[in-house]
Amino acid sequence: MRRSRPANAPSAAQLSINRRTLLRAGAAAVGGSMLGAVGLPRAARAARTDTGVSVYAFPLSAVTLLSGPFQQNMTRTQAYLNFVDADRLLHTFRLNYGLSSSAQPCGGWEAPDVELRGHSTGHLLSALAQSYANTGASSYKTKGDYVVGALATCQARATAAGYNSGFLAAFPESFIDRVEARQNVWAPYYTLHKIMAGLLDQYLLAGNAQALTVLKAMAAWVKFRMGRLSYSQRQSMLDTEFGGMNEVLANLYQVTGDPDHLTTAEYFDHARMFDPLAAGSDQLAGFHANTQIPKMLGAIREYHATGTTRYHDIATNFWDIVVGHHTYVIGGNSNGEYFQQPDGIAGQLSDTTCEVCNSYNMLKLTRQLFFTDPARTDYIDYYERTLWNQMLGEQDPNSAHGFVTYYTPLRPGGIKTYSNDYDDFTCDHGTGMETHTKFADSIYFYSGSTLYVNLFVASTLNWAAQGVTIRQDTTFPEAASTKLTVTGSGTFTIKIRVPGWAAGAALTVNGAAVGASPGGYATITRTWASGDVVNLTLPMALSFPAAPDSATTQAVKIGPIVLAGAYGSTDLTALPTLTPSSVKATSTPLQYTATASTGTVTLLPFYKMHHQRYTVYWNVSKPLPELVAWYKFDETAGTSAQDSSGNGKTATLTGGTSWTAGHSGNAVALDGSSGYVTLPAGILAGAAACTVATWVRLDTISTWARVFDFGSDTTTNMFLTPQSGAGTARFAITTSGASGEQQINAPAALPTGAWTHVAVTVGGGVGVLYVNGAEVARNAAMSLSPGGLGGTTQNRLGRSQYADPYLDGAVDDLRLYSRVLTATEIAALAR
Ligand SMILES: [Zn+2]
Repeated sequence: MRRSRPANAPSAAQLSINRRTLLRAGAAAVGGSMLGAVGLPRAARAARTDTGVSVYAFPLSAVTLLSGPFQQNMTRTQAYLNFVDADRLLHTFRLNYGLSSSAQPCGGWEAPDVELRGHSTGHLLSALAQSYANTGASSYKTKGDYVVGALATCQARATAAGYNSGFLAAFPESFIDRVEARQNVWAPYYTLHKIMAGLLDQYLLAGNAQALTVLKAMAAWVKFRMGRLSYSQRQSMLDTEFGGMNEVLANLYQVTGDPDHLTTAEYFDHARMFDPLAAGSDQLAGFHANTQIPKMLGAIREYHATGTTRYHDIATNFWDIVVGHHTYVIGGNSNGEYFQQPDGIAGQLSDTTCEVCNSYNMLKLTRQLFFTDPARTDYIDYYERTLWNQMLGEQDPNSAHGFVTYYTPLRPGGIKTYSNDYDDFTCDHGTGMETHTKFADSIYFYSGSTLYVNLFVASTLNWAAQGVTIRQDTTFPEAASTKLTVTGSGTFTIKIRVPGWAAGAALTVNGAAVGASPGGYATITRTWASGDVVNLTLPMALSFPAAPDSATTQAVKIGPIVLAGAYGSTDLTALPTLTPSSVKATSTPLQYTATASTGTVTLLPFYKMHHQRYTVYWNVSKPLPELVAWYKFDETAGTSAQDSSGNGKTATLTGGTSWTAGHSGNAVALDGSSGYVTLPAGILAGAAACTVATWVRLDTISTWARVFDFGSDTTTNMFLTPQSGAGTARFAITTSGASGEQQINAPAALPTGAWTHVAVTVGGGVGVLYVNGAEVARNAAMSLSPGGLGGTTQNRLGRSQYADPYLDGAVDDLRLYSRVLTATEIAALAR
């Protein structure tokens, strides 16, 4: 909890219970935009429609996960939901109302003397409701009904137990007196929010009408407690963590239309947090992160309930600030549970980074903002990034009950640790129950007759309103593609997300190509028929995103997937230094090797990193200069060619070479039988893009000779040949041998007997080949990058990786850039 507030400091006993510090979480309530969706029980129809929403979620019942990691995680958590003893989680509630209970008390944050007791029961209600809605299995319904019934029994005894009517908690109402009086107490409204959200989910997702009755009585009690306080008393009290009270009450207002519920929601509008955010000011440093995030969920839901744009501004500005300036590469935020100074990332790596509850709530917020502004594809980029890199990997795959992490340590040498059956019950244990039972809720969305496909997760969608089923088959990200198959027929639109990271993405409908530009949606409107197939390939390139506060502190990603170094039982005291050029794929999908200061290291997707130490961030030496190397070849003797870029990348002449008159000054002559020039190893290592530009004069032309060939072997290379087997000039790049080449094929071979300027640019998914300053060919599906070749060891002019002919001619004024030069710049070089 808010350790910074002496009045709210937890007791020593509490601290001893949680070595991690304190709790946090957000809650359960279904976003209001699910309200009224098809398939809900009649009783669950909403009274009010959301303002400012143009995209809607499908009910969980409409989407079924197919086999894959998300389904596996869900299955483990659902095994826990079936296993966990409801009576143990009701024990402290029953005692609180003078009822007998012979259940064994829980431990951890549910222990009878812990002030947060009862919160897990709320999370359980949400997780059971989600599981029932998603799978239809009666065990979740039966257990949910039982818990709701038991809570109703407790609540009915409130006045008999000496409490005000409607009060429902596992702790005495005096906790509320204490928080109102600013006396030491943990976070009573936080816990009540979990219970209220669980009840609303039981009503909306599991059709439990009793849950709504109990919830409305709780809401009336909240209004009674809050309504009799002054504004300043309420605002002071709101400094203590209260979860998403404003969110669940706004959600309830959308269900009931009772204006008291909106009034009560707005009692929890925390001016100290909302006012600077409404003005777009980042004053988050020093605030407990997960105390704030649920308030923003309340803000966006209050916008949906009222149309008051200030609420929208608060939520949107908060998201922009947190994602833009407080978020680690895996999508999480906070260090030691607190927001730090903006862009404090590299300097904030510890064992207590990225509390998972924060991301649970950020994803809920992101989803609501997407409903509000579906054109902002950065919302879904963030959703994907956080879902894969933090949420999926928070669960221990060795745990049959889906135990989860609390923090996500990002210090070098960090290791994930997990919850347990009955002696943890932290906030993250609770939000984990929810996270892993609702993966089906954010794959597909709709707006009228338009379907949004946002995530690449194996699943089926039963789109009742259109009378069709969409099946998504994918093993993404292990395979960089997904396939949609339509069953049923009708005219509708599919908008399939083409992520910004997928340069070179290709989309087909029944085999026919459709335009797909990365960084948005590809839109397909047609009259669909059963068996229609949409295929999307999503090339994934290596990248090395730097921390905002340190250009030399970098992570490694393949597409959207963060790769982490696997260190087994070896602890680390500092960031290892990584050689980006050494990062190379193995035969196992998404598994790489690299050279680091610690030696050779295996890189795995961070979501697969369990039961061993790791590093997510690395120390990386300076990025490549824009002009990597420039060989004028104006020497007159010797076997060295100086690098005029100032980078010291001296080249070496070998075999039948000599100095000769060039296009400008001298050039290096190659004899066509043994002469070639070698450039330093790893010369384009780490380059996401490049330009290779040179003058060449062919004396004779031989098929498969090389102007240049940069690579390590016949598997990994990029080359330019004056004449391929097809008879024309070709550039190709590959990390999987000749069969995996991505090519640019010119319409003609290079000419002989004259100085010819040739240039190749590669980057952003596009490769372009220029001859004499004019574009002659391009490939717009070139996902490979020079950096992706790793630390190439055989970078040559005039000699192939294969036993091909040597180049017969001369080369002059060769320049290497780490970026794509424009056509204008290429033309200038060719003069
Ligand atoms: Zn937490």
